[in-house]
Amino acid sequence: MPDQILLIPGPTPVPAEVSRVMSSEMFNHRGPRFKALQEHLVEGLKKVFQTEGRLFILTASGTGAMEASLVNFFSPGDQVVSLTNGSFGDRFAEIAEVYDLQADRITAEWGEPLDYKALEEILAADHAGRIKAITVVHNESSTGIMNDVQAISKIRGRHPALLIVDTVSSMGAVDIPVDQWGIDVCLTGSQKALMLPPGLSVISVSHRAWEAAQKAGLKSFYFNLRLAQEYFELGQTPNTPALPQMMAMEVSLGLFFDEAGREKSYARHRKMTMALRAALRALGLKLLVDDEHASVTVTAVVAPPGIDVEKLQAVMRERYGVEIAGGQGRLQGRIFRFGHMGAIREMDLLAGVAALEMALAGQGYPVQLGRGLEAFQDVLMNIT
Ligand code: PLP
Repeated sequence: MPDQILLIPGPTPVPAEVSRVMSSEMFNHRGPRFKALQEHLVEGLKKVFQTEGRLFILTASGTGAMEASLVNFFSPGDQVVSLTNGSFGDRFAEIAEVYDLQADRITAEWGEPLDYKALEEILAADHAGRIKAITVVHNESSTGIMNDVQAISKIRGRHPALLIVDTVSSMGAVDIPVDQWGIDVCLTGSQKALMLPPGLSVISVSHRAWEAAQKAGLKSFYFNLRLAQEYFELGQTPNTPALPQMMAMEVSLGLFFDEAGREKSYARHRKMTMALRAALRALGLKLLVDDEHASVTVTAVVAPPGIDVEKLQAVMRERYGVEIAGGQGRLQGRIFRFGHMGAIREMDLLAGVAALEMALAGQGYPVQLGRGLEAFQDVLMNIT
């Protein structure tokens, strides 16, 4: 029995069969067993990403893959446009600047949709093709907004800029056909919808991004994808990989594909989102993001006046065994967030709503106990 119900935007709960395999014995990472494992994982992940490009598994958290997405394809002084409406969008620009790239930010308020028109204008004015990349976070976990990557790709059109997309908190939970959407570099992390512990990240590279990599002036020792490719061909990785996580990934990918196809996973995430949003609204709470732009993996709630978010989290954790997240950066103390992805189940989320009702009531917020639960159940029973 887990001693908590973990409802944060990652790390997410890990299914028992996935955890179990992590205590297996280690084996030679420069032998045939590893070669077969890595090839099998890459093949499976390419199906999840829906790409025929190259794909690498990195022993690094999601931020490592963000860094890899910027250090492998460009030269110092290159211009990138970073679309940002949250903490992880900002992070892309910050990493770019660490590597002496010129990061031009197009910002929107946290929780508000991006300014696609501004991107269109900047690209249209760039006759010389100086802009080398567009970075965007598909699912901004800090606010629970889902940005429209397809629209961005359409705006990019024939402009040569590479489209770099962070899908850390969305890959596996929602359909992201990487090649069809024209994403050049797509990255995700293990600890979200892929139902794994933290420690691995995955990055895909399109043919034209790979061409750019051959001419790139920036260098990294650890995140060198050209070196990773050479080692992949030998059935290895440049450095010692996180073997337990990779063994676990084989099991979690199996579970993902066993869920009667990807569509089933996507539908489950959609339904949990609808049920949770209905429950929160039934409690009179304000959601940070409107329905049109809502994430299917993270939902942020605006803290009602007089509600202390830290206290709310503490009561939910200590009295009811439910862990939810607070706000990040400028939203700290102003919102609280539910994660609902990967192995989080409908009934876990329902328990989260029950705990929230009681914790809110404890702070004097006017709650009719059961209101949220009823709205949640209503969606579960009536939406297929
Ligand atoms: N991008 C997004 C959208 C995330 O949600 C996170 C982590 O929560 C990251 C990037 C960074 O990943 P990590 O913390 O694994 O480095």
